[in-house]
Amino acid sequence: MSRARVSIKGLEDYADDDKVVGAVRACLEPLGGMGAFVKPGQKVLLKVNIVTPLAPERAATTHPAMVRAAARLALEAGGRVSVGDSPGIGDPAKVLETCGIAAVMRELKLELADFKNTATFECAENRVARKLDLAKAAADADVIITIPKPKTHMQMTYTGAVKNQFGLIPGTRKAQYHYRLETREWLAMLMVDINRMARPALCIMDAVYGMDGEGPSSGNPRKIAAVLASSDLPAMDAVCCAIIGQDPEQVPTQAACRESGFGTTELEDIEVLGDDWKKFRLRDFELVKRVSSVPFLPLPKAAHKWIREQLSPRPRIINDKCILCMACFKGCPVEPSAIDPRREAARQVNDKTCIRCYCCHEFCPEKAIRLRKSWLDRIFRLSALIGR
Ligand code: SF4
Ligand code: SF4
Repeated sequence: MSRARVSIKGLEDYADDDKVVGAVRACLEPLGGMGAFVKPGQKVLLKVNIVTPLAPERAATTHPAMVRAAARLALEAGGRVSVGDSPGIGDPAKVLETCGIAAVMRELKLELADFKNTATFECAENRVARKLDLAKAAADADVIITIPKPKTHMQMTYTGAVKNQFGLIPGTRKAQYHYRLETREWLAMLMVDINRMARPALCIMDAVYGMDGEGPSSGNPRKIAAVLASSDLPAMDAVCCAIIGQDPEQVPTQAACRESGFGTTELEDIEVLGDDWKKFRLRDFELVKRVSSVPFLPLPKAAHKWIREQLSPRPRIINDKCILCMACFKGCPVEPSAIDPRREAARQVNDKTCIRCYCCHEFCPEKAIRLRKSWLDRIFRLSALIGR
């Protein structure tokens, strides 16, 4: 069996467009170049990551220079290129503007992909959703090229290639899945299902800057200085996890890929081409810390659920930073919203109805939501320290 291939090429910054194009071109070369993925006349969707309307310097969204490079190469290969994503809240066209991608679209005359309407996708092999309405953009495209960033994610630990396709679920419907699927493991399985349905042909990872700390939008930009490419998305995530020091066992999307036999998740089964990936390794990447080993107790399912809920950090508003934009309120999947910044501090978050999806944290443009550790989490950490 041939090994999965991930290509990596160093790229220091986004300053010089030609250098960015050169790096992406060099990265694709060992995989056969863009021509191996895009044929003349094909409709190409560049699925970017515009989680929330933030400037490119925040490193929460795909950098416009990376979109320009991917688009130029796809156009060169004869493709008809459109660009899009569905942010958690807000109009995609406006969010693309804030993220600096709309300017690139005007410059290269790229179409805005249809993320407002949906088309029905089916896949008999899927575990969570055999039938799903995804953005029409995915059905319109002959080829999907996904362009994410490697970032920490407060709910899913890490977000990159596989998770980027969650954005094919339009707008606030994403939040509804957070609500309907009880655990992050089920949510991860849904993400795998989406990848099986939409089948991106190629992932170009914008890892010039990733994000550590409280990602996917409130963390810190972290220079990784690389661009990566692969047609095997779990393999791409496996390499990115190795670079940032993330234990893949703690990444639900990787576990879901492994469990459902989707792609390649083991580093030893991956051939890394191009530059030596080990030279990009970061020892101090601030990861999402979780209490990883809750002792197994023979308790009923409901008790396990209760423990899990107690262990999850709770969102709290930092009122000094809050500008009352109401993005958290609008993005909360709970009905009525479990968060309301207009209330007095003690009642701003309803801990009884909050499902700890952290959408509010993700959508807040001001980093005005902190995630407070629970009392049970503190006890587990303390006993882990004492037991060392
Ligand atoms: S308050 Fe925040 S974490 Fe809780 S359910 Fe709403 S969006 Fe999710
Ligand atoms: S907490 Fe953040 S998202 Fe919510 S209203 Fe304040 S600034 Fe906006």
